[in-house]
Amino acid sequence: MHQLAQLDHAYFWHPFTQMREWLDREPIVIVSGNGAILRDVRGREYLDGNSSIWTNLHGHNHPKVNAAIRQQLRKIAHSSAFGLANKPASLLAAELVRVANPESVFPARRKRERGKENKNSIPSAPLPPFPLSKVFFSDDGSTAMEVALKLAYEFARRTGRSNKPGFLSLAGAYHGDTVGAVSLGHIELFHGAYAGLLFKSDRVMSPYCYRCPFNRAKPERADARDDRQCNWECVGKVEQKFAAQKKRGNPYAAMVIEPLIQGAAGMIPQPAGWLRRVAEIARGHGAQLIADEVMTGFGRTGASSTVNHPPSTTLFACHHERVQPDFLALAKGLTGGYLPMAATLTTQAVFDEFLGEYDAFKTFFHGHSYTGNQLGAAAALASLELLQSAASVRARQRLEQTLREETKTLWALPNVGDIRQVGLIVGVELVRDWRRREPFELRERAGARVCEAMAQRGVLTRPIGGVVVLMPPYCTTPAQAGRMVGALREGIDEVFGKRRL
Ligand code: PMP
Repeated sequence: MHQLAQLDHAYFWHPFTQMREWLDREPIVIVSGNGAILRDVRGREYLDGNSSIWTNLHGHNHPKVNAAIRQQLRKIAHSSAFGLANKPASLLAAELVRVANPESVFPARRKRERGKENKNSIPSAPLPPFPLSKVFFSDDGSTAMEVALKLAYEFARRTGRSNKPGFLSLAGAYHGDTVGAVSLGHIELFHGAYAGLLFKSDRVMSPYCYRCPFNRAKPERADARDDRQCNWECVGKVEQKFAAQKKRGNPYAAMVIEPLIQGAAGMIPQPAGWLRRVAEIARGHGAQLIADEVMTGFGRTGASSTVNHPPSTTLFACHHERVQPDFLALAKGLTGGYLPMAATLTTQAVFDEFLGEYDAFKTFFHGHSYTGNQLGAAAALASLELLQSAASVRARQRLEQTLREETKTLWALPNVGDIRQVGLIVGVELVRDWRRREPFELRERAGARVCEAMAQRGVLTRPIGGVVVLMPPYCTTPAQAGRMVGALREGIDEVFGKRRL
């Protein structure tokens, strides 16, 4: 075993990993990367099939992001945001506010105001229903969600909406591993273990068309969203939850959603129109909306994510359905996948509730040592510039299309139950029998075994139970995307036997 692998085995406790299994085999030790390729200590090359756990956007070792970090490093790596401002974080906050209120999506600059403008006036900002105008930085997806949770909680208390604010989130929801974020989630495995540490949040069914008890359509060799037969019962359930909670006299403070697609729940996409309707229900009941775009943000949901929607180059999933949340949680891709940094965007109304005299103690008592870190902010600014370039938009559209074409071939495999694609995110659900949608049991490690077979073929990704995820960096070429899907096909053949419909 390589010396570095030995050190890993001796000391490194890995996340979400059964360490007994881990210690049974030599780990892949990554030493470098370039574009969509990762290289290990033995010189083997792999394609990064899940963008290094959904973080990397433009590829590894990107010259522009590298240069931005290097340039910042010549000045300073980090100074505290407690009592001090800094240049890259201020620039980044302004840029995040700009991209989070895109005029292409919210053309709300009212005609009246436009008429009033003269040549010399500063153009007025776009006006979505609730513009996101303040940025609170933290370190990771979980912390971005903790910030949203605490702010929404306090906002509901201070505005007199509720003394004990409650939250509604989706079945299978995952919003991170810190205690508040786990409380908002509904993954039984975690709740089983930590129930005593968590607070209660309510759960409503998620629109999992493939396994929806209200979908009367027979399984087809096509995305279950396309030919579902239902009456939007999933939306009705949301309305019922809000109504029941209101009756109890304690209306929800906020609804928490991963817009367009739930990630760790198993890549569960929402049918077109679901998000818009649910947002209207929440707003109609006076609740706030927390959008967890930790996975979906920064272009990951592509140009035309939901069926029947016109293409758009917006960077955030919410905006595909013209929904503007009160809180937008961002992490993972914020720095292009280079450094741990997160942001929670919110509205002026929330911000204002925390203003007051010093001794009124309305301050938001929350903060992390690395808040507004300069290196992270410099990387994020470079990444945002790249994202908005015509070349990146073209590359994303091409990759989305390639993935759509390549994965079609997988419908011929009888162990493929569903192929769910939203933009540049693909989940392939493996089943024992596609006609009955019969799932594998968790202990069979169906997804894990297929991913191991893919790694043998030079493609790295991680499954979620029986769902294999493909989420390549945006620089992935059509040939590389083809190799990723090819490895998945061969992996399934190896694990379940080569069969075709
Ligand atoms: N929210 C979502 C939607 C996520 O997918 C994740 C991580 N997979 C998180 C929050 C937590 O992010 P982190 O691991 O950076 O804390």
